[in-house]
Amino acid sequence: MRDDLPLPPVWWRLWTERVNLFLLLLLLPASTSCSDLPDYFDKLLGLSMDPHPVLFYATNTNNNNITITDYTPSPPPPRPLPPAVEAAAAAANSSSPSGLKLVEVSGMDDRLPETMRPLHYTIRVHPFIHGNETMNGLVEMELEVVRTTANITFHVSQMIIVEDDIKLEAGEGDPGGTVPRITHLLGDLEKNIVSAQLEGKVEAGRRLRLTVSYVAFISGQEGGFFALNYTDEGVERKMLASLHQPWDARKAFPCLDEPHLKATFDLHVARTINMTAVSNMPLSHTIPLIGEPGWVVDTFQRTPLMSTYNLMLVVSSLHHVNFTTDTGLPIRIWARGEKINQTSFLQRVTLGLLTFLEDYTDLPFSLPKLDLVAVPADSSVAFEGWGLIQFYTDRKMMMEAEGDTQYLRNSLTILTAHELAHQWFGNLVTPHWWSEVWLSEGFATYFHHVASINELPQVEWVTEGPQTLLHMILKQDSHPHTLPLEIPITQTNSMRDIFDNIGYHKGAAIIRMLNHVLTPHTFRNGLRQYLKAHQYGSVSQRDLWQSLNEAGHREGTLSPHLDLSTIMNTWTRKAGYPVIKVVKIPRSNSATVYQERFTVNLHKKSNDRHNHKWWIPLTFTSQGSPDFNNTRVWLWMRDTDSHMRVHPLPKNQWVIFNVQQTGYYRVNYDLHNWRLLTQQLLINHTVIHVANRAQLLDDALQLALAGQLDYRVALDVTSYLAREEENLPWKSGTKGLEHIESLLKKTPASGPLKKYLLALMVPLLSNLKFDTPKEITEIHTKHIKAVKLACRLGHEDCIHLAISLYSQWMQNRESIEGVALELREVVYCTAITHGGSAEWNFAWSEYFRSNDKQYKHLLLRVMGCARDIDQEEEGTSVEASVGGQLRDQGVVAEQEGQEEGQHKERQQEEGQEKGKQQHRLAWNLLTKEWDRVASMLGEDEEAMEMLVMSATESFSTHQEVDELVQFLEAHRDVPGVVKGSELALHRATQTLDWRERYYGVVREWLQERGY
Ligand SMILES: [Zn+2]
Repeated sequence: MRDDLPLPPVWWRLWTERVNLFLLLLLLPASTSCSDLPDYFDKLLGLSMDPHPVLFYATNTNNNNITITDYTPSPPPPRPLPPAVEAAAAAANSSSPSGLKLVEVSGMDDRLPETMRPLHYTIRVHPFIHGNETMNGLVEMELEVVRTTANITFHVSQMIIVEDDIKLEAGEGDPGGTVPRITHLLGDLEKNIVSAQLEGKVEAGRRLRLTVSYVAFISGQEGGFFALNYTDEGVERKMLASLHQPWDARKAFPCLDEPHLKATFDLHVARTINMTAVSNMPLSHTIPLIGEPGWVVDTFQRTPLMSTYNLMLVVSSLHHVNFTTDTGLPIRIWARGEKINQTSFLQRVTLGLLTFLEDYTDLPFSLPKLDLVAVPADSSVAFEGWGLIQFYTDRKMMMEAEGDTQYLRNSLTILTAHELAHQWFGNLVTPHWWSEVWLSEGFATYFHHVASINELPQVEWVTEGPQTLLHMILKQDSHPHTLPLEIPITQTNSMRDIFDNIGYHKGAAIIRMLNHVLTPHTFRNGLRQYLKAHQYGSVSQRDLWQSLNEAGHREGTLSPHLDLSTIMNTWTRKAGYPVIKVVKIPRSNSATVYQERFTVNLHKKSNDRHNHKWWIPLTFTSQGSPDFNNTRVWLWMRDTDSHMRVHPLPKNQWVIFNVQQTGYYRVNYDLHNWRLLTQQLLINHTVIHVANRAQLLDDALQLALAGQLDYRVALDVTSYLAREEENLPWKSGTKGLEHIESLLKKTPASGPLKKYLLALMVPLLSNLKFDTPKEITEIHTKHIKAVKLACRLGHEDCIHLAISLYSQWMQNRESIEGVALELREVVYCTAITHGGSAEWNFAWSEYFRSNDKQYKHLLLRVMGCARDIDQEEEGTSVEASVGGQLRDQGVVAEQEGQEEGQHKERQQEEGQEKGKQQHRLAWNLLTKEWDRVASMLGEDEEAMEMLVMSATESFSTHQEVDELVQFLEAHRDVPGVVKGSELALHRATQTLDWRERYYGVVREWLQERGY
């Protein structure tokens, strides 16, 4: 899928927000018969090459129609022309002398009727990348009737089709019989569906060929085939790229656009001779385009069976490098000329990852070649096209093997692992429908770390990755209204609904659990069986369970009495996940284990638990004989068990359930066991596996948040962190403690908690150096959470470095590239918190300069970090400066800014001491400069939402809640404000509720320890 660099995972979705182009589908009446006209597509194909007579295209007709001259590539018509649109609009308003009529209807089924299946598509396209950014196309669909029907229904979106150019005839291999005439067309524009109504029925078993010629638009959109601009070595250039998932193939060619309707494809592409066309398959041959000097037609080899969304095409002037795998697979990397000599790292990881995946799956890469295209765009998205992977960034893809930071190497490696894993999971074996997209995205995410094991020198980074993602998704999935992995999807669902974190990360976490349940060996064998059985086909999860079930039973790792689909359906079809509570029975060797759904809802007691229960694989170890390597299932807790007795357990010893946290659930214990565990951590924490130390911290703090564990017990667990040197426990501990810190903002307990946190961090920080950017960027993989926290708590060295990095960035935008994105946010935030108007203004101007949505939203978030600054203290207020900034429409006086920044640097410590961290600058901007903010952010609903969220981050008093309510009421007509304000209100009221319940206990705990 359109995959993000593995950064804060929510960001990947932001780019995929589409421009909601109004659906344009116009049916042109043909004014004359086309049969005697020169065949436009003769030129694209050459008659001698095609066994079928080439069809017709409406050229040189007298009026109301598209003429071939409209599309003459040289000289290019000025943009935005689409003369076709004008012609079409004119034509649509005139009456059709003959031919088919489109009757517009609504309320058609969301899915295609199961009456036809496509066998093969022949597609001829002539994109005018340098012309008017339209594309002439002709598609022949070879269809098999699978159920007797009187219509042929297919998808079309944002294109013009010429009515008399829709032709139906007997297809290849048709058993014979009359082919009924198409009487008229029904079109549901909202659903992108056209249904050709037939004069009579066609019986099951018939083969038909439906031919449609069309004009598609390749500008102003990010779906289908689309043109984009870039510069290479100072020269402005244009290229064509493709993004079809989930339902944009229909913008590139009329088709039956559902992923399970796989077919083979022949693609013919007209291009100018100075460009190169690349598709899924190798080039077969090239011929001149008759009558069009400077143009040629590329024909690609026939694809294997694949989904429509996977038909890829890139036409560009990019450069490439060639290399081959040990098995002889040719690979090319395409990039701008100015970047093409920076592919060595990508070459190396691609070779290593491919070898791993081929070995693991026991299936060689299934196409005869692989292309990786670094599209020169400013985004972090990638798409896994079969045989043609597109990365929509070249800044992050291109690097010398040793030249860049570990952070960039890690990111690039796992993104490449993800897209390569899709070549098997997604492309070769494809989820039947988008509701089970986790079968594709979950596996691709699972292989991020699994496949990277040989590629990255920092083994702990590879081994810790899955658990870090597990904690992230467990937190998200504890929301009362979270959705299950398998959800109903229709075209009304957005990209964000389909490709959400649940599918990626919960999918990966469930797969990781299965790997341990079945053992890695059996799991791999089961997957091999699954891939072999369903290659070139489509699957639903029951196909996966069946293969794994058979492997488990065959190899004896799954009891013959157990059925994996019964077990796994509880994990994929139910929302959320369970918490088990282990209550040991005093003086006995047994315990009672309870299960219930785990949810966190601070605002009120959740009444939305649905009484869900799961099949839970229980694993455990104990103090007397700690064995953290055995992750095999000890006992299954069934989905009918609300509790069960377990034994034997050792008496008077601690026990830990969910060994290495391989199961997708949380664990709570009785108080005695929590005390034993806390003692163990304080005496010698290394007895407990690092993964379980991280688990204990994460579970304890989340259980306290959910009201299921006394905060004193959870905070006691964190006290051992002063001895902890490993990254993973630090990450989970600081995440939970930072959340408490945010809930305590502006309360008397805030200072004591910060002191406690800094005290915990003293030993760790004494080992970290903040002297140079290189150090701070290299340590991120080890202790990024701790570094972030230290900066936020005011660690002097960290603040100094952040301001210095930010200042370098203001002078040279490239300088920030090497800083880990996760760390970059804290650098920006720290510099803006402790800096002045220059820092703030620079972020604001960057917002308008950049086209990268992820980056823009990061900037909106950090703008909330600014403090109020008194007029007297500052001389010129930041607010006044911001106002000026707005009036200047984003022009920054950099020189002044730097001087002012240095001035602020001297003053920031005073401000800090005075407790002036009121993060209200952005709020004042929103309220006092509303008209300008609204006009500048325009229609970007998500940006507005994030600005509101960011500006109100620290809101936690009744007065602030009132202000927010007033703001919301004043701007109810702005969707971004409504959404952002409602979320902010929810957050603020949750904070207030949390304080009512837990403030006293946390304050007391801190006081008892001298803070
Ligand atoms: Zn993906």
